Amino acid sequence: MEFKIAVAKGDGIGPEITDQAIKVMEKVAEKYGHRFEFNNVEVGGEALDKFGDPLPQSTLSTCKKSDAVLLGAVGGPKWDAFESDKRPEKGLLRLRKGLGLFANIRPAVLYKQLQDACPLRSDIMNEGIDICVVRELMGGIYFGERGKSEGENGKEAFDIETYSEMEVKRIAKAAFETAMGREKKVTSVDKANVLESSRLWRSVVEEVAKDYPKVELEHMYVDNAAMQLVRRPSQFDVILTTNMFGDILSDEASMITGSIGMLPSASLGEAGVHMYEPIHGSAPDIAGQDMANPIGTILSCAMMLRHSFNMEGEARTIEVAVEKTLEEGFRTGDIMSSGMKQIGTCQMGDEIAGRI
Ligand code: NAD
Repeated sequence: MEFKIAVAKGDGIGPEITDQAIKVMEKVAEKYGHRFEFNNVEVGGEALDKFGDPLPQSTLSTCKKSDAVLLGAVGGPKWDAFESDKRPEKGLLRLRKGLGLFANIRPAVLYKQLQDACPLRSDIMNEGIDICVVRELMGGIYFGERGKSEGENGKEAFDIETYSEMEVKRIAKAAFETAMGREKKVTSVDKANVLESSRLWRSVVEEVAKDYPKVELEHMYVDNAAMQLVRRPSQFDVILTTNMFGDILSDEASMITGSIGMLPSASLGEAGVHMYEPIHGSAPDIAGQDMANPIGTILSCAMMLRHSFNMEGEARTIEVAVEKTLEEGFRTGDIMSSGMKQIGTCQMGDEIAGRI
């Protein structure tokens, strides 16, 4: 089979980690007789430098014409002082919006091989961690009205969180559908004791739940959820939450499963071109040093094979290759522990590709 994949390598470690993912995908293509055509597009800081726009029209139109999009990461100190509309992150937000990607699926699994990298007590860790965060991606405070002004007490600034019934309904459905294929439990995380938008969220989620009688639904305040994630992560199956809470909680979920460098994600929309990206940022502190962990990006490709190309066997092949590589003791610095073999980004790509 033949598929077109738009590759937005982005900034910082973006190019290094996407190169490893492409290496692995090419091995998958070879093994199964597929053809993947990779087309590079610019987004973020790289696009700002070249075109003065973090999301040039050409990038969006190439992505729209592709079967799927692979993204590395965007951003870095070089562009931090830019006005908010001219920041690399704005290019990513516009790309998600342009492709209609409203659901971000972020599985967080603790591999048995990585138990030494888990910062939790062994009795907590031994209960296992297998969580899927379903984060709303196109609404809420990241897309709400914002502004700055001069007030009585000096400068003022605001960002507004707004959610509509339609937005909550479609993300809640995505979470319940995800739960149907897993342990059939949804924990909806909000701040309904304080926020009006959370109270609407809660009532719409309850309505959607009626269509999924086999799925157990519980509600949890975000502050409690942050605590429960480290206290007893095994209680969670699917976490359904807003754009901002999902952003924060999935970083926490990544840390308890070893490293932010391990976690993949799929951003799904109704239009059919989905985007796959690791959950971490551009890690400017380690960029260009062959230190980044490419596994989150490589596992994002497994999600692409599964969700966009309906290739379950090929997806599992990547996941098994990652497990074998870890089993045999290979580690990047972020997941290193004593007795293991520390390797760089490029060798990690080679090791995984070699086990396809
Ligand atoms: P970050 O995720 O880039 O880095 C946080 C920490 O995790 C750093 O110490 C980094 O070295 C480490 N890390 C991240 N990915 C790693 C990997 N694959 N292997 C090993 N270590 C890894 O977050 P940050 O430092 O808050 O942000 C840096 C830049 O990235 C900022 O400009 C931010 O806006 C941007 N950002 C982009 C995205 C995205 O493109 N999706 C997401 C988050 C942050």
